[in-house]
Amino acid sequence: MKSPMPESVPSLAAIGNGRGGFEIASTQVRSPMGSEVRVRMAAAGVCHTDHQSLNWDGPLVLGHEGAGWVDAVGPDVSHLVVGQPVLLNWAIPCGHCLPCQQSHGHLCDRTQGLSKESPSVASPHTEWQQQSIRRSFNLGTFSEYALVRSEALTPLPAHLPMHEACILGCGVMTGVGSVINSANVQAGESVVVLGCGGVGLSVIQGARIAGAKTIIALDKRLESLERARRMGATHTWRIEDNDAKFEAALAHVRSLTDERGADYAFEATGQHSLAFAPLKFIRHGGVALQLSGAHGEVSASMLDFWWDKRYLTPLYGGCHPPRDFPKLMRWIDEGQLDVASMITRHYPLSQLQEAMDDMLAGTNIKGVIVFDKDRT
Ligand SMILES: [Zn+2]
Ligand SMILES: [Zn+2]
Repeated sequence: MKSPMPESVPSLAAIGNGRGGFEIASTQVRSPMGSEVRVRMAAAGVCHTDHQSLNWDGPLVLGHEGAGWVDAVGPDVSHLVVGQPVLLNWAIPCGHCLPCQQSHGHLCDRTQGLSKESPSVASPHTEWQQQSIRRSFNLGTFSEYALVRSEALTPLPAHLPMHEACILGCGVMTGVGSVINSANVQAGESVVVLGCGGVGLSVIQGARIAGAKTIIALDKRLESLERARRMGATHTWRIEDNDAKFEAALAHVRSLTDERGADYAFEATGQHSLAFAPLKFIRHGGVALQLSGAHGEVSASMLDFWWDKRYLTPLYGGCHPPRDFPKLMRWIDEGQLDVASMITRHYPLSQLQEAMDDMLAGTNIKGVIVFDKDRT
């Protein structure tokens, strides 16, 4: 039978079925055209969004974080060469629209669907069971090969291990970027972090790098609080089950901030019902940031907004790839940003279900799928 996609490569991939499940199956990924690049994946981080994506319209190649090597480039790509290590970034900036020109690549009109130009590669690009299928966030990193637009790629230094670098393009960027870009925390200021998973720990590291004097970590799990201390929290407080309104936690935060409340509070619990909780912990004129991408309806007491408080919902830590990824890589080199300790476990693609189960159970800070153990 003649293939409709010449020069395609076979690629084992995790395919979401749109009904909460997935299977690992063989796909075909075609050669790049125009400004497209085919990437041979080395490693891919597993994120709560991947679990949610199991219910998005299927079939869908799963995964939106990762790192790999350039496998083939389209005729219009001159800045990347075959074999080059690259980081994949899901908020693909076009580089030309107004947000991109204002260094807000994460809000790119094309990625946000506000421009006629699609952020995706030309279809058909991936074939499964003789049908053309989509790739999550136009990346689809739980796959031996990904076909992406070149704007989705940032070159990685050769010395940075792929199985660590692969998580930079989601939770780490979200946490660190929310501190550095969105809140713009300054040296000597005080920060509260509610929820100490992968994003919360990245907030703590960002606050430490920014020079925050007081970094108060709040979580229900003692293990998470121990990690928070290792990442730079100056104080930790365990939220008891009977403190649903955070009265005890708030009293503790006040005792550490001259009874005023913190300058900033970040919510990183992933629980949408807690969207407004960070407002409680900040002083008058402070800034509350909700990093869980909460949606749906959540009620709040207007008293929590008193007075002059600002409430932000940063997307992806305000990521502007050419500015931010080199900065994160430099901080890793300087030993300021500890990515390695945030990865709890590596899994082969065949164990993606286990990786998701561990993530949902909270046993991992971050799980990573590795495609070729010898090369990472
Ligand atoms: Zn993610
Ligand atoms: Zn743009």
